[in-house]
Amino acid sequence: MQIKTASRLGLLPPYLFAELDRLKKEVQQKGVDVISLGIGDPDLPTPKHIVESLKRAADDPTNHRYPDYEGLEAYRKAAADWFERRFGVRFDSKTEVCALIGSKEGIANFSTAVVDPGDIVVIPDPGYPVYFSGCVFNGGEPYSMTLKQENGFRPDFAAIPAEVARRAKLLWLNYPNNPTGATVDRAFFEQAVKFCLVNNIILAHDSAYSEIAYDGYRAPSVFEVAGARECAVEFQSLSKTFSMTGWRCGFVVGNAELIAALGKVKTNVDSGVFQAVQEAAITALEGGDGDKLAEYCAIYRERRDEVVAALKGLGLECEPPRATFYIWARVPRGYTSKSLTELVLKEAGVVLTPGSGFGRGGEGYVRLSLTVSSDRLKEAVDRIKALRL
Ligand SMILES: *Cc1c(COP(=O)(O)O)cnc(C)c1O
Repeated sequence: MQIKTASRLGLLPPYLFAELDRLKKEVQQKGVDVISLGIGDPDLPTPKHIVESLKRAADDPTNHRYPDYEGLEAYRKAAADWFERRFGVRFDSKTEVCALIGSKEGIANFSTAVVDPGDIVVIPDPGYPVYFSGCVFNGGEPYSMTLKQENGFRPDFAAIPAEVARRAKLLWLNYPNNPTGATVDRAFFEQAVKFCLVNNIILAHDSAYSEIAYDGYRAPSVFEVAGARECAVEFQSLSKTFSMTGWRCGFVVGNAELIAALGKVKTNVDSGVFQAVQEAAITALEGGDGDKLAEYCAIYRERRDEVVAALKGLGLECEPPRATFYIWARVPRGYTSKSLTELVLKEAGVVLTPGSGFGRGGEGYVRLSLTVSSDRLKEAVDRIKALRL
């Protein structure tokens, strides 16, 4: 028979990384020791007390059953407590907090909960690909807000046409930002909340990197702004904060109606986070880890400083980010994101992420991830240096 898959799959942009994966294998087959700076996944392990907590919880038969999709009451309470300690804002753990199987799951399902066919979804470009796929999978119409370097990689709300603002249902933000490493202050969120309230737009903020910060920078929450609770949700993840990417654990806080709508989708597509993982996540959120987070941030910061200093001499202009573990560097004159990435992979055996893989607005940049050891980073930079770009 002839297989015909859903036409929505054809709405996805060409998967730029597939070609790179193929090229990477080809280079590896030649025996090259490839260094990947392409992956946003911490190399530093999950702190030990969290792993120990999982081991104990895994032994408990009450945890072997289906969890509730919305999360254990104790987990949601630990999440609300953590949020209050960190941002000074209280959420009701029963109605304003929901557990997520990693924030990616929540981000994808949130679109299903709020986007109708024909709705405009306003998306940062470059941006995390799930905002776009969630939009088009649900028949939404994406509208790109280009994040420009001259605006500090922040969107200019005043540049959004009135007709787009009128038809927009949902707007995504992500600060500290992947891939640009850009950060914002509370005043920016004041503008964002105002824009969304005036235009009746749901605001979804992806806060995955709020704790990976340097030089005294403290990322704000959108909920530090008055009025946010009327229109917004914020996605938090344990993945980057506690080096727990493989555990699949996050949560969302915010407007109770929006949390309930997401919950309705979730009851129909998943059955929650393994309870033993939730217990370990409670351990993580309660802290008391001898400040592993500060230790890990200090390691990323040291790597950042080494890489930024080294790239300066290579024609790859970049600013040291105040948060995230990414360096967003301009490609030298005469290259595109793709041509530079291919050259560096073929000739230096180093994997970079082409900025254009995050949307048209990422063209002209590459992203380097600081999630490999300082020695390997140094080796990678030396190899790029030898190319004399
Ligand atoms: C890593 C990441 C996430 C989600 O990670 P989860 O592991 O699914 O919690 C969400 N948004 C951005 C921008 C990310 O980089």
